[in-house]
Amino acid sequence: MDGLGDRPCRDLGGLTPLQAAYRPNMNSLAGRGLSGLMYSVSQGMTTGSDTSHLSLLGYDPVRFYSGRGPFEAMGLGLRLSGGDLAFRANFATADSNGIVKDRRAGRLDEDASELAEDLCMEMDGLVFQVKAGVEHRAALVVKGEGLSDHISDTDPHISGEKVKEVRALDSEALFTAEVLNKYLSEVRSILNGHPFNSRRREKGKLPANELLLRGAGLTPRLQPFSEKYGLSGSCIAGIPMVKGICALLGMNVVEVEGATGTVNSNFRNKIDAAVKEMKKSSFVIVNIKGTDAAGHDGDAVLKKKVIERFDAALGPIMDMEATVCITGDHSTPCDFREHSGDPLPILISSPGSRRDTSQFFDEISCMKGSLRIGSGDVLQYMRQLSGNDEKYGA
Ligand code: ZN
Ligand code: ZN
Repeated sequence: MDGLGDRPCRDLGGLTPLQAAYRPNMNSLAGRGLSGLMYSVSQGMTTGSDTSHLSLLGYDPVRFYSGRGPFEAMGLGLRLSGGDLAFRANFATADSNGIVKDRRAGRLDEDASELAEDLCMEMDGLVFQVKAGVEHRAALVVKGEGLSDHISDTDPHISGEKVKEVRALDSEALFTAEVLNKYLSEVRSILNGHPFNSRRREKGKLPANELLLRGAGLTPRLQPFSEKYGLSGSCIAGIPMVKGICALLGMNVVEVEGATGTVNSNFRNKIDAAVKEMKKSSFVIVNIKGTDAAGHDGDAVLKKKVIERFDAALGPIMDMEATVCITGDHSTPCDFREHSGDPLPILISSPGSRRDTSQFFDEISCMKGSLRIGSGDVLQYMRQLSGNDEKYGA
């Protein structure tokens, strides 16, 4: 449950949304197994959904995380492979001398997908993909051999300055810088002559005639999930970033009807899909985003309702012969409206496992549970409980 962890909420009389929620299924799972607290990546660290999901799946972000570019691109629905170069991008307005007039093209109040599509092309043996996001935001991904992320931004980061050239920061990045500058000059000519911008100019709006790039990152080359664990893995999520991370690990990404990544997502469809997927896959991760979204909105009552609806959807897994873990990726306290480094409640229930004395699943009751675990160890812990691990040593 994304952003599950919370702090005492004013609107819930000092309870956390999980404490306040009617959650008989989660409490039952906690009573049957082990519960406790999990920190995301390392003690007290505030993490994003990208780094915390990598960690939960056992890939240490401190070693493998290469910056936001690739993960933001995945967040917009682009599928990336190890070695792909990715940028965060802005549609912006520049004058004929290349001076940035508005870094956000007037906060671009219309869908720029038709622009993005026309900027997708092949050039010098590389494949360029652009995807439009909310307002002026976009991502650029470059696929091919010999790419480097040791290059500078083109975004001057303030209006009134000239769009920068891509510069190589070392000799190995010369090819990347050269081909990007060539691509961006093509981009400018396409954008300047695009009917989308003619319509904007006619309406007196700022044209989106420049694509500013920043935060170059090479997508990490990660050992496939199945190789790392000797288990097949599947992913059920509404949000593209989690699907993108799982796809990067070679996991099977299942599309589920009604899985929207919002507070209204169809949780029962997701759990039904997970149960079905368990027939062919050894491990299934299910992400629900509504808890995090309600946390960012500061809506503790809504977060409580999302948890209750998810608890009610858990019915089909309650009597399965399976190792079940419920936790979050990081905390998103409602009264804080942002991610925090507070540890998360976690429960792990497995047939034949030990039980501890904790009977309730929430941040405070879990303090009495037996687990104190970092997110990077959770999958290994589940793997040994389900008898799927290998002995370390003789
Ligand atoms: Zn998250
Ligand atoms: Zn969040």
